[in-house]
Amino acid sequence: MRDVGTRVAAVFGDPISHSLSPVMHNAAYGALKLKGVYLPFRVSPSELPTAVRAIRALGMVGANVTLPHKFEAARLVDKLGPHARFLGAVNCIVNRPQGLLGDNTDARGLDLDLKQLGLSLKRKSVLVVGAGGGGAAALLAVLKLGAGRVTVVNRTHERAVALARRFARAKVETLKLDALRDPAFMGEQGLVINATSVNTTNQSFPPMAYAATAEDCFFYDLSYAAKPTVFLRPALKLGRRCADGLGMLLYQGALAFELFNKVQAPVDVMRRALYQAAGRPILP
Ligand code: NAP
Repeated sequence: MRDVGTRVAAVFGDPISHSLSPVMHNAAYGALKLKGVYLPFRVSPSELPTAVRAIRALGMVGANVTLPHKFEAARLVDKLGPHARFLGAVNCIVNRPQGLLGDNTDARGLDLDLKQLGLSLKRKSVLVVGAGGGGAAALLAVLKLGAGRVTVVNRTHERAVALARRFARAKVETLKLDALRDPAFMGEQGLVINATSVNTTNQSFPPMAYAATAEDCFFYDLSYAAKPTVFLRPALKLGRRCADGLGMLLYQGALAFELFNKVQAPVDVMRRALYQAAGRPILP
């Protein structure tokens, strides 16, 4: 039986065995000498309502929610934070005395990682490929960072149009997927973000005029993998600066840790644990 003083947090997903979140959250509890534990639970879609109710029934501090539950979870909480409401998706559920708060730390996580990478987006053109939850979070982040022309491109064009409409005041443009093959358009981009779920070698990223991009164009993949992703590989070959979504995962996790535990997250400890688990060198 758990000690009633122990903070219990979790991540719900299906599948979940690959999740690196437990490693970084448990490292943070250890470093802060907080009695706490963060556990991965494989939760099927039909069991999600029960799992969400358990957060309250068991007195957990909260739970992260990952694929495929981010949209459904938004319907199961008592209140939504502003980002979760805008995105219609929740990636963390915080157990508050007033009820369950659904929040979304993905956009803030990406924002912090892009800043940490030293990217200035002021007046730069940004291209986001993908119009799911990750694409929406990426648009929020780059607009907050002051990007100039922002374009979203998606395999299913109507989905990109519907997403752009939600940013009415910020003016997000949409183009068809073949814009990726247009050298003039690609040559204007300062940052290209992959927010599609194309990641592994058995999937192919839509054809893109990588060589037409400017030498200082930055390529960012929301996905991460042990080896460079299919999206990043051609950019790396050309010597372009690149990053994958491990840093975003770190920062969205650190923000969730703070929401769950109401203490400042030890980001460096979490980074070390995460990068070690992912088999990455820890950059200074
Ligand atoms: P999602 O809502 O399921 O959206 C998937 C997107 O990928 C859609 O735009 C879809 O286009 C597109 N897509 C799928 N297969 C494609 C293909 N073969 N060619 C072109 N486009 C394709 O997923 P999501 O939640 O946005 O997540 C997207 C990626 O971001 C995932 O890899 C996820 O792990 C990653 N992510 C990372 C973090 C992090 O912390 N690093 C956070 C959030 C998400 P259609 O609309 O045409 O289907």
